[in-house]
Amino acid sequence: MACRSVFDASAVKSDFESAGISPNFVPLVWKHVLKNPNCRWDEIPSLPSAAYALLNSKFMPCTSTLHSAVDSSDQVTTKLLIKLKNGEFVEAVVMRYDTRLGKYDGKPRPGGPRATLCISSQVGCKMGCNFCATGSMGFKSNLSSGEILEQLVHASQISAIRNVVFMGMGEPLNNYAAVVEAIRVMTAPPFQLSPKKITVSTVGIIHAINKLHGDMPNLNLAVSLHAPVQDIRCQIMPAARAFPLEKLMNALQKYQTISQQKIFIEYIMLDGVNDEEQHAHQLGKLLETFDVVVNLIPFNPIGSLSPYRSSKDQRVVEFQKTLRGTYNIRTTVRKQMGQDISGACGQLVVKRSSKTANLITDIEDLHI
Ligand code: SAH
Ligand code: SF4
Repeated sequence: MACRSVFDASAVKSDFESAGISPNFVPLVWKHVLKNPNCRWDEIPSLPSAAYALLNSKFMPCTSTLHSAVDSSDQVTTKLLIKLKNGEFVEAVVMRYDTRLGKYDGKPRPGGPRATLCISSQVGCKMGCNFCATGSMGFKSNLSSGEILEQLVHASQISAIRNVVFMGMGEPLNNYAAVVEAIRVMTAPPFQLSPKKITVSTVGIIHAINKLHGDMPNLNLAVSLHAPVQDIRCQIMPAARAFPLEKLMNALQKYQTISQQKIFIEYIMLDGVNDEEQHAHQLGKLLETFDVVVNLIPFNPIGSLSPYRSSKDQRVVEFQKTLRGTYNIRTTVRKQMGQDISGACGQLVVKRSSKTANLITDIEDLHI
């Protein structure tokens, strides 16, 4: 039965080889599907006849479907809700945020040329961070490498994608093999993204960080640190107990020595939890010896799922000033995007599965 994604690279390549077909045909098949995800195999010209038989019997161009695409009111963000073949949903977000500002109004230009795609690696997540909508779902399933790539295929129908960030649903380093395989395909024809344009964001799975550079050199690593000391980290991210801060920092030190690359540090600003002056100093001292860029992330409220409030703007500005001024650490503040379409990843899926009539209506109102 045709059931696997043709983007499950190792499966399709090994099946081609066992059938005596050159795996060099595989990127041609992908190229065609990338242009036309709903194609039939016989529409692809010039494949050996055994390839058509094999594709027909075992593979589908896309196993997932684009269920809805919702634009934010400023058109900068489009949130894709994608239905997997097991019936579960994942989110992917296209961000056309252009860092060059508009010529006259000083605002980011919508529809900029450098679209970034935020993709999911799992349905749900077992890490349980208590500020995260995806965490509140628990773990449901891992995406295959093909399902990870299909998000890029669906998004490419909407915008030309230059950057990919694994900041959607799930913990990418808990689905290591599929994520590495998907990135290998993304960096080869026909996608041909530069590894420098791909960022994997992790809660800090130490054993996987230790392997990452060997498997995927030149990739960007982003670490969701979110607290400068172990107890606050444990309070908001239960996984920190298994991956203690001190060991994590040692792993990052090693990663940086080997890779010689800067590391991105994500820090979610939670009112009264991790946003005080002393926390900025603790974070500054922790990161002083690293080559990092700290990204302060305004907390995106997720309703009754989480008890936290966003930090006041003034707090965020002061936090940034301390890191920059006292510790000379490059520090940016993430722009809030797509709040009107449930910007934080996982929110749309969590809302969908909620049985509350109001929430379901919300989603249906948003359908295009
Ligand atoms: N599991 C990985 C990648 C997915 S989460 C990780 O945790 O890094 C991507 C980013 O979104 C993480 O930095 C995460 O902490 C952040 N995030 C999760 N919930 C959020 C929320 N409600 N508001 C703002 N950022 C959030
Ligand atoms: Fe999982 Fe990341 Fe959400 Fe934590 S923040 S629960 S690691 S997806």
